Amino acid sequence: MSKLGTCTGGLPSERIRRANLGRVLQAIHLRGSISRSELATQLALSPATASRAVHTLLELGYVQELKPEEREEAGRRKTPISIDGEHNMVLSVHIGILRTTIGLVSMTGEVAEKQTLDLRPDGALEAVKILLEKYVIEDQASSRIRGIGIATEVHTQADAGRLASMHEPISPRAAKAEISRHFPAYLVEAATIPTAAALAEFWLTQSPRPRTLLYLYVAALAGVALLIDGSPSLTGQPIAGSIDHIQVPEPTGMPCHCGRPACFAATAGNLGLIAKANSLINKRQPFSSLKEVLDAAAESPQLLALLNQRARNIAYVAGVLADIFGSEALIIGGDAAALVPEYLQAALAPHLRITTPSHRTAGPVSISPIDRDGPVLGPAALIIAKVLQDPACVHMTPTEQTSTA
Ligand SMILES: [Zn+2]
Repeated sequence: MSKLGTCTGGLPSERIRRANLGRVLQAIHLRGSISRSELATQLALSPATASRAVHTLLELGYVQELKPEEREEAGRRKTPISIDGEHNMVLSVHIGILRTTIGLVSMTGEVAEKQTLDLRPDGALEAVKILLEKYVIEDQASSRIRGIGIATEVHTQADAGRLASMHEPISPRAAKAEISRHFPAYLVEAATIPTAAALAEFWLTQSPRPRTLLYLYVAALAGVALLIDGSPSLTGQPIAGSIDHIQVPEPTGMPCHCGRPACFAATAGNLGLIAKANSLINKRQPFSSLKEVLDAAAESPQLLALLNQRARNIAYVAGVLADIFGSEALIIGGDAAALVPEYLQAALAPHLRITTPSHRTAGPVSISPIDRDGPVLGPAALIIAKVLQDPACVHMTPTEQTSTA
């Protein structure tokens, strides 16, 4: 059986077999339940190939056979195959600037447990390890947990800049190293929140799935993720920084740590907006949340103008990036998108008419509906996406790994 780290390269026939395994698992995941013969037809595989893939997936423990359907017409009864959600869970950790969320999510995206803690990044990692320990100990008999996904709000320590200077931010790389060291038997993946949330949209909600998906995440800070065929592109590379730091036309006056005055990451996030609102309105009790600014905007033309200004900045960045990448779908997520959809919708319209002769710009634009569980689903999707793309290579159980260590 394949182990972690043994799945690169290989003979062409082996690579094809693994690719088919991923396609079959994805089809089962998308359809909920599907028979072997339906899989063969849908994926244009021979019945033998489809059956062999299902057999391997059963062995790996990702899928289960349901009770055969009673059918009216004569012939063999079809046995539906579905994902074994109960035995394929992912631990999810979201370390935000203001709070930390921990959850337990099934491979099909059901949130089994979720707790939000008032932990800031500087104290989160130690507390997270203690909480994860509890799940891991409970899991030891059943081996349900496939991995631990972690999303952090910043890319590097420098990204947090002065916006989060009161807290020690955690980069995905540092969080992954620390959790991997502490839980060596588990698959651990980490990324920034925009990338994690984009993966959740693609693998857990999008149907049909767009080949290119552009995702703008607007929460405490703002960020951008680009997925091609369900895999993150332009992340983990220096260029990801420059995408997040695209210059907006109407900066709100919150300078970025990179030294430029109009970065999307700094000026479009909630922290930037709140700081600007506080500089505009002299209140005895300064604004501390987006919700407070929104409430006050009902009676303040200045704040209303500020909200619209930010929406235009977000829309501008969406339009420019959608045009550059010719993305098939554009999603705006994060709590800002959930709280102020009306500002964004109005601001988006003119910018998404930008077209070039060679390709169309973003077709469907949506404001993400999954924000409520986004902090839990995003990190979980880091593991789920890996499993669905190459099930043979990420398959492992804690016992297997210890026995080979
Ligand atoms: Zn910048």
